[in-house]
Amino acid sequence: MAKPHVLVLGGNFSGLGAAQKIREYARDTVDITLIDRKNYLLFVPNIPSEVLDYDRNPALTMHMDIVKPLEEDDIYFIQGEVKGFDVDRQTVEYVPTERPGAAAETIHYDYVVFALGNRLAYDDIEGFAEYGQTVSDTFYGEKLRRYLRNDYKGGPIAIGSDFFHQGTMTQDLVPMAAAACEGPPVEMVFSMATWLKNHGLGNPDKITVFTPGDTIAEDAGLGNVSSILKFAAEAGVHYKNKAQGIRRLTKDGVELQDGSSIEAELKIIFPDWQPHEFMKNTPIVDDQGFVLTDMTMRHPTYKNVFACGDAAAVVVPKLGYLAHITGDMVAKQIAMDMGRMEPAKANIPPHFIVNCLGDMGDKKAFFINSDSWYGGKMEQLKVGSEVVFLLKAQYKEMFFRTKGKVPDWGIPFANFMANNF
Ligand SMILES: Cc1cc2nc3c(=O)[nH]c(=O)nc-3n(C[C@H](O)[C@H](O)[C@H](O)COP(=O)(O)OP(=O)(O)OC[C@H]3O[C@@H](n4cnc5c(N)ncnc54)[C@H](O)[C@@H]3O)c2cc1C
Repeated sequence: MAKPHVLVLGGNFSGLGAAQKIREYARDTVDITLIDRKNYLLFVPNIPSEVLDYDRNPALTMHMDIVKPLEEDDIYFIQGEVKGFDVDRQTVEYVPTERPGAAAETIHYDYVVFALGNRLAYDDIEGFAEYGQTVSDTFYGEKLRRYLRNDYKGGPIAIGSDFFHQGTMTQDLVPMAAAACEGPPVEMVFSMATWLKNHGLGNPDKITVFTPGDTIAEDAGLGNVSSILKFAAEAGVHYKNKAQGIRRLTKDGVELQDGSSIEAELKIIFPDWQPHEFMKNTPIVDDQGFVLTDMTMRHPTYKNVFACGDAAAVVVPKLGYLAHITGDMVAKQIAMDMGRMEPAKANIPPHFIVNCLGDMGDKKAFFINSDSWYGGKMEQLKVGSEVVFLLKAQYKEMFFRTKGKVPDWGIPFANFMANNF
């Protein structure tokens, strides 16, 4: 008899992790297929340190092949662009992406896992292509590295996020955020301050950091954030909150939605995280297009539909750590359906924590670990730690060495070390 077919859409942190864990927990009870438009994992979190600390093209070091790891787990990999889906027919339409001109294909599933992340909407920001910089993929990382090397004259710097349009249908499960992910802007403030110093181009008072919200990185815990802001202010960094979003970028600066503007030669921008166009107005998404799930990452109506990572409505902020634990949750649920895991174990919802190791330059980093935004009491913070920098670098090494299968003790161990040393 044919085994149930699990189709995982997306092969970065949440998709690769979910597929590997489904194989681990459900073992040979299922067939698994994974579709991604590219055949490697993009290790996003370490791009800033590649660009600013190591002065290296991040495309050389931040891509991890996913074809072999999937093959080793008997997971069929398709390199294709997902174009649409039909949850009633249980089908997904995709176009193979290795060569242009491929014909659209349709694939049937018994279970589907949406791990497609989001589109980072730089194309919604007027003037971004001409005047904006960022570090969210290797193209932009390398563009910034070349700009710093060849064009930057040492003028003022603005760093900040556009407004995040979160859906409103999961407010009983997660709070509302004004920005999708503000660890990276905080990281870029510290890293750029170090970069300026090391290149003899001035002090942190050249930098203005802005946020659309009341407080930057409010999801990291208000106590943590006020300590970070104090640290940055003492260094001379300027801070602008309640910006409400970005109106446009010009040669001379950033115009904000609240009517104010920031003068800047260099503008490092993080955009709105938006669902892919083909996700919007489908029966499984919220009012923005993020996939609706409960905290077991299962769709409330379509019980064979799951989501994990940035694509899921409940995953806020959009964070790699949450991608990791929600991928694991999906795998437990599918293993339970296959009779391979007890419900008592499979139904324990993941403990959402804002967990972030951010680069600061000079081989130092900060560590944030907090669940207070979700109603918990934990708020841990370390700033300027060499141990945290080493842990961040080592985590990436371990991830690549284990082909994504970081042992279960990996993250708790890193947290313990970061907090205690
Ligand atoms: C600069 C920066 C720094 C960050 N630093 C940290 C950090 O220090 N710690 C942390 O926890 N998080 C960090 N994050 C957030 C983290 O990178 C994301 O939360 C994480 O990548 C989400 O993983 P994901 O697998 O859900 O989505 P993604 O990483 O976006 O992966 C989605 C996958 O789906 C594929 N895909 C998309 N559309 C299609 C399609 N139509 N067809 C086929 N395939 C498709 C993509 O190719 C991709 O492989 C950072 C983010 C940025 C931008």
